[in-house]
Amino acid sequence: MTEQERIEAIVRQIVAGIQGGNTSAASGGAIPKTSRAAVLTEKEKFEIREFPIPEIGDDEILVKVEGCGVCGTDAHEFKRDPFGLIPVVLGHEGTGEIVKIGKNVKKDSAGKALGLGDKVVTCMIFKDNPDITMFDLNKQNVGGADVYGLLPDDDIHLNGWYADYMVIRKGSTVFNVSHLDLDSRILIEPAAVLIHAVERAKTTDILRFNSRVAVQGCGPIGLLCIAVLRTMGIENITAVDGNEQRLEFAKLMGATATVNFKNYADRDALANAVKESFGGYFADFAFQCTGSPVAHANIYKFIRNGGGLCELGFFINGGDATINPHFDICSKEITTVGSWVYTLRDYATTFDFLKRAKEIGLPLEKLITHRFHLADVNEALQTNLRQDGLKIAIIP
Ligand SMILES: [Zn+2]
Repeated sequence: MTEQERIEAIVRQIVAGIQGGNTSAASGGAIPKTSRAAVLTEKEKFEIREFPIPEIGDDEILVKVEGCGVCGTDAHEFKRDPFGLIPVVLGHEGTGEIVKIGKNVKKDSAGKALGLGDKVVTCMIFKDNPDITMFDLNKQNVGGADVYGLLPDDDIHLNGWYADYMVIRKGSTVFNVSHLDLDSRILIEPAAVLIHAVERAKTTDILRFNSRVAVQGCGPIGLLCIAVLRTMGIENITAVDGNEQRLEFAKLMGATATVNFKNYADRDALANAVKESFGGYFADFAFQCTGSPVAHANIYKFIRNGGGLCELGFFINGGDATINPHFDICSKEITTVGSWVYTLRDYATTFDFLKRAKEIGLPLEKLITHRFHLADVNEALQTNLRQDGLKIAIIP
């Protein structure tokens, strides 16, 4: 910074202090009067609109968006509007930098100090109970809570991360994740889904360091599942998918063997291939990460007597699956758990997972295969619908 720039920054700070007084603004960083946001105005159509950036209240935060992942949920809303949210600013896997912060906001939801320039993510919003803490919700998942990026439109409009700026309101959970790089921060929300699933799996008391674990489905969720297992010290992981490229990715994430289901004529042959991958043993535990009812029915055949299953593939209704309760559950005494989204507590665990994954050399950043500018958000969502690549990110 030159002497001239420094004086200008000081003057701006003083002027901001005279005008507002309630909030701190980032020194030197001029905040524009308006922000772009991608508004889904009809099915399969985003329009980029400009909205005024509002005054920030004492309990609010203004974030300059740095990036946001595209989620399967966004793709569903984009294509069919099942949540009836149109017009809506989507984007819930976002992260950015605090450029303005209300005077009452001193700490994040985990108790860590929060200030200008910190990098943050949001999780859930509790408008009716702003004093709730993350530890109150240790046992309850996010179902039913509001999240930015899936909120009804209001007069502020800056409600989702597919935008240049976002306003974090009172009652939101917000986390200081300044210690994580941008790619890791974009992966926090989907990774939390796997932290939760593994926590659910652990309740069966079957998952061990030396367990043989099958992971079916190698989209971003299945691949992150493998990375979480690998990071917690599980060494023997077989990935099952129908796409060779995804199976190659599974190895990068820590899978020790892969099985392409397309190479096997029927379910028995496929189950046998999984058994072979473990040196002649069925899996002790399996994670089902696809939204396919057939895949759900198949996975019981991969699991040994007395083994366990975590089903997490059906975030939304994918239809009924046909299983044989005698052979698949009773006679094998399979312990099954379901997993859906995550708890607030899982979010904090996720930050540590991402750090550890880096430390043991898992190239998580390679999961982000496409990056689009905000102006190209329609193309980004179409790319997701075509299932090209893995995780797609919007970088405004
Ligand atoms: Zn998501």
